[in-house]
Amino acid sequence: MDACGRSNSGRKYECLLFDMDDTLYPLSSGLNLACRKNIEEFMMQHLHIDENEVPKMCLDLYKEYGTTMAGLKVLGYEFDDDEFHAYVHGKLPYEALKPDLLLRNLLLSMPQRKIIFTNGDKAHAAQVLNKLSLEDCFEGVICFETLNPPPLKPGHDDYNTQGGGVKKQEGINEKQVLAEGELEGTATDDTTNSNRISSKSPILCKPSVGAIEAAIRIAKADPKKTIFFDDSARNIASGKAAGLHTVIVGSTTLVPGADRALSSIHNIKEALPEIWEGEGEQPEQVIHFISPDETSVLA
Ligand SMILES: [Mg+2]
Repeated sequence: MDACGRSNSGRKYECLLFDMDDTLYPLSSGLNLACRKNIEEFMMQHLHIDENEVPKMCLDLYKEYGTTMAGLKVLGYEFDDDEFHAYVHGKLPYEALKPDLLLRNLLLSMPQRKIIFTNGDKAHAAQVLNKLSLEDCFEGVICFETLNPPPLKPGHDDYNTQGGGVKKQEGINEKQVLAEGELEGTATDDTTNSNRISSKSPILCKPSVGAIEAAIRIAKADPKKTIFFDDSARNIASGKAAGLHTVIVGSTTLVPGADRALSSIHNIKEALPEIWEGEGEQPEQVIHFISPDETSVLA
């Protein structure tokens, strides 16, 4: 095993890539609906878009560009990414999420590397993982800031030392957001073939195949030995296009591109016993990357 907990055991699967929202907790938590309402409110209050147009526009942009935020940017709306995230996530009913000890024990018993891959921002990821008591179950988080690092202005203290493109994250240690520096140049890599969404959008996010390929590179994962869990059918389709094994979560039926369907992430052991296949007595080390203290700072 290497320093990142990478298995050299020859297992069929070496890495597990997990979406977070509506995958690690159920849609019924209400966070998704609250988030949609907050986005609509932001569009009315901050972008002064007509109230009657907002619901359809919100949905249309989500479908066309992967996230409503990405679509708004394409349409030319100018707003600060952090302000947007603070507005739409700051008022979410996080208290609806409770510690999930069953999922925690399942995750900790899996011998593979485990990484979060979310379109959400890092503060939201920290909140959710903290509320679910899962913050130490993952090697790292690939989030909005990972795929969309804010550019530094020339003259900034970190501009030269960080290649001019990656802002040093405040209140977060180096291991929390995975290898942002490795994203240098990936924006230009992301202009190929089936990547309709990201080729039109300045924001890199799922379900762009390019975003998924970037996440695979950042995670240093072999897609042939990686399982991707997500509740979104289009993310699953893109994950399959990127060469991943795929599991649709929150569904009892397969969707195009899905290898398996899981009604709940809690059913993972019954549905995917091969994750634990060949597991000996020596559990792999889990690297702590978000401590409760750091999470509270981010919140
Ligand atoms: Mg999701």
